[in-house]
Amino acid sequence: MLTIDGSFGEGGGQILRSSLALAMVTGRAFRIEKIRAGRKKPGLMRQHLTAVQAATRIALAEVVGAEIGSTTVEFRPGAVRPGEYSFAVGTAGSTTLVLQTILPALLTASGPSRLSFEGGTHNPFAPPFDFLAKAFIPLVNRMGPRVSATLERPGFYPAGGGKFSLTIEPSGKLAGFELMKRGEILRRQGRILLADLPGHVAERELDLLKNKTGWDDTFFSVERVQGSRGPGNVVMIEIEAEHVTEVFTGFGEVGRPAEAVATHALQACRQWLDADVPVGVYLADQILLPLAIAGRGSYLTLPLSRHSTTHIDLVRQFLEVRVAVEGMEGGRWMVRIE
Ligand code: AMP
Repeated sequence: MLTIDGSFGEGGGQILRSSLALAMVTGRAFRIEKIRAGRKKPGLMRQHLTAVQAATRIALAEVVGAEIGSTTVEFRPGAVRPGEYSFAVGTAGSTTLVLQTILPALLTASGPSRLSFEGGTHNPFAPPFDFLAKAFIPLVNRMGPRVSATLERPGFYPAGGGKFSLTIEPSGKLAGFELMKRGEILRRQGRILLADLPGHVAERELDLLKNKTGWDDTFFSVERVQGSRGPGNVVMIEIEAEHVTEVFTGFGEVGRPAEAVATHALQACRQWLDADVPVGVYLADQILLPLAIAGRGSYLTLPLSRHSTTHIDLVRQFLEVRVAVEGMEGGRWMVRIE
């Protein structure tokens, strides 16, 4: 059984979720210790527990220590069962992080799956649904499977209440890809989601985006969410290029001025545009796992986050692949898996 130090690297929920994902794919059992050791409330929180439970259901796993506050978990996966599943993540939890845990195994499973999720779809510190649907899933589909995601309604932190579904048609073994250039920019769009908040929040964000980008008015939209369980505000800048689409997000929260929310998304977008790389910081850590499972692939990205370096370390423990990272000129980095 592999032993994973949960306090290593990024040291948060990521190392647990990614260990679960890799164990499900490889059939290798693991024991993770010191889960979230450096955090204010160490051990499993509700959203981590949901990920463990989802992985347990799908991989018919035997699990020890799956309870709130637990700092050690043992996970022995059985055979992965594709099929119909629904997951209610609770109010504050992120649905997309649960998906991150179980998707790799279902991409390589023996049959199709249909998943539905209820909870937060646009949570800070997690991939928002739109990033998943427009940036991440198209890259996964480039590897062979056919995945498609539909948002029924958004759910914002902390009230949740969002819903989305996903269909997965696996294609046998995953094929790797090379992503070194983003190509021509084909489309750019600034989108603001607003639920149960005064209209001036979106107006101020819109003003800032328009002034700073100089883009035409038609490039922006404000979408008022009806029937939300609680307030929410998200600014998303979507850039579709020839070879990749990226989505940069700012999340509204109590006490954070609208201008700061829009600026956050804009700065992330600028950093990516200026570096002339195809893969942004978040996409970089998220595509590493599927590419490592494929056993082949490479991409050019920004300086690696702790999430990415933690993924590289984990992948080396679970899989027989070589992951090379090379610094290039202009602060760009190449990740190569072979
Ligand atoms: P953790 O911090 O361990 O809960 O993991 C966060 C995960 O969410 C990582 O895979 C990040 O790449 C991803 N993530 C966080 N913020 C964003 C964002 N704004 N857009 C896309 N993915 C994100």
